[in-house]
Amino acid sequence: MSLKVLILGVNGFIGSNLSAHILENRDWEIYGLDIGRNKISHLLDNPRFHYVEGDINISKEWIEYHVKKCDVILPLVAIANPSTYVSDPLSVFELDFEANLEIVRHCVKYKKRILFPSTSEVYGMSMDSPYNEETSTLVTGPIHKERWIYSSCKQLLDRVIYAYGSRGALPFTLFRPFNWFGTGLDNVWEPKEGSSRVITQFLSAMLHDRDINLVNGGEQRRCFLYVDDAMDAMLRIIENKDNCADGRIINIGSPDNESSVKQLAETMLNIVAEYPGYENIRERVNVNVVEGRTYYGEGYQDLVTRVPCIDNAKNLLGWTPSTSLEDGLRKMIAYYMAASPSEQDLDANPPSIKTSTTPQKIAV
Ligand code: NAD
Ligand code: UDP
Repeated sequence: MSLKVLILGVNGFIGSNLSAHILENRDWEIYGLDIGRNKISHLLDNPRFHYVEGDINISKEWIEYHVKKCDVILPLVAIANPSTYVSDPLSVFELDFEANLEIVRHCVKYKKRILFPSTSEVYGMSMDSPYNEETSTLVTGPIHKERWIYSSCKQLLDRVIYAYGSRGALPFTLFRPFNWFGTGLDNVWEPKEGSSRVITQFLSAMLHDRDINLVNGGEQRRCFLYVDDAMDAMLRIIENKDNCADGRIINIGSPDNESSVKQLAETMLNIVAEYPGYENIRERVNVNVVEGRTYYGEGYQDLVTRVPCIDNAKNLLGWTPSTSLEDGLRKMIAYYMAASPSEQDLDANPPSIKTSTTPQKIAV
């Protein structure tokens, strides 16, 4: 019998990409819930994709029924955007912690396998590098630096899940994404400042002739992982060959794709400048330096670098990332350049885009 996978937050960046990868590469059934459907509209006709529009705080009976019915549960609903950690920390607590705790408890009740999205944010500002799942000190900042509420919510859920699991009450895997990117990450057509993660924010700025903001100078570094590599790891975790992922915490990231935010902006500008109509992108888009507290608010605090140790992913899953940062950016940018907003992961009212000529797709 084919595996039944429940994905809450199925219309999100990870949920939509994961659904597409599962439907293409496996014979599993997907049951998915989300408040939106714009990124999964192309999947809705697939007979193995069962979508319901619903709010995790309201559709509680549907959720409990499907936790009971499914084999693997992926609770991906969360606010996962640093600007909101600072502007609305209580909503982060209510959704990312409280709503997800209920799902964890359903999984305990029905003894269902939970694959919980922890985060590289749990490592906070730890000075150890690379970040190891078992030994890192997990250092976050003072309470008035509200950015860390997301990290704290995720860390406490990691601990709750681990505690249930270590007492035999819950089969689990905690996976920790390190700055995954690709199509469907936030919304490039929504040019609101600070509303997206960095790659979408920069691409959106380039498509709308808006300024690129390097927060605190852009010397801070991240390791970016392209979505296809990430989905390869996710399929291996779901498959769980010889129970390899049971009870484990697994970083999923690409140490080789480390880049400063400033270098990232340069790389993206170089790629975008290859497109007809965008040759003069550097004249149209200013690269500014802004202070973190001005850009995000007083509650923001950043980290200098964040590099994953991926030994667990390599040894347990047999996984290694293979897409370079530049290749991944090329694929992502080609997608957004090749299609109009109406064909893509649009929200209800995509803004019109300033382009002097029709962009051509380039070889990737
Ligand atoms: P996302 O914001 O793209 O997706 C979240 C989805 O949840 C959205 O489709 C949204 O519509 C849905 N949602 C929000 N509120 C809802 C509600 N009340 N009821 C039902 N659905 C609701 O986020 P993502 O990048 O796909 O992340 C998924 C998970 O992975 C999150 O838990 C996030 O914290 C974690 N994570 C992601 C990354 C990354 O690199 N993308 C990094 C670390 C952790
Ligand atoms: N950042 C930036 N300009 C932007 C958006 C983000 O310089 O327009 C920086 C942000 O301060 C952080 C990094 O880019 O240092 C990555 O931010 P993101 O929100 O993508 O994820 P994080 O890794 O901080 O969770």
